[in-house]
Amino acid sequence: MYHFSRSIYRELAPEIIEDRAEREGPTNHERVLRSCETCVERLATDWHYFAKPTKTLFNDIRVYFPMSSQLRVYKVVDRYMTFARDYFAANPATEQLECRATTRRGTPCQRTPLPHNGYCPSHQHLAETEGVPIAA
Ligand SMILES: [Zn+2]
Repeated sequence: MYHFSRSIYRELAPEIIEDRAEREGPTNHERVLRSCETCVERLATDWHYFAKPTKTLFNDIRVYFPMSSQLRVYKVVDRYMTFARDYFAANPATEQLECRATTRRGTPCQRTPLPHNGYCPSHQHLAETEGVPIAA
């Protein structure tokens, strides 16, 4: 799925403002790439609940581009986010397809899980107990 984020990055990279003024931490190029990856990853695993991917990614990365590039950046982001969303909606990540629970018969539950915790609606109680620390 990372070919989406790399494609976005590759199209935008020439316009990224890079100031290498003795600053610690990642470069602007790295920040842009990371934002693209985070957004694509979220689309891949959670597209259902990710309402405005274009706006989210654009807001994350727009500060790394000059004023004159903003419209182009928005268009590139929108083109890829729309494409990626359609792609992931049609091809859900395979590990998301089955509930993480085991049924009483000892076979894996095959119902469709909810993306936020990987359990189907009838196994939601298992996700709740997961967060509870084991008493000493
Ligand atoms: Zn289940």
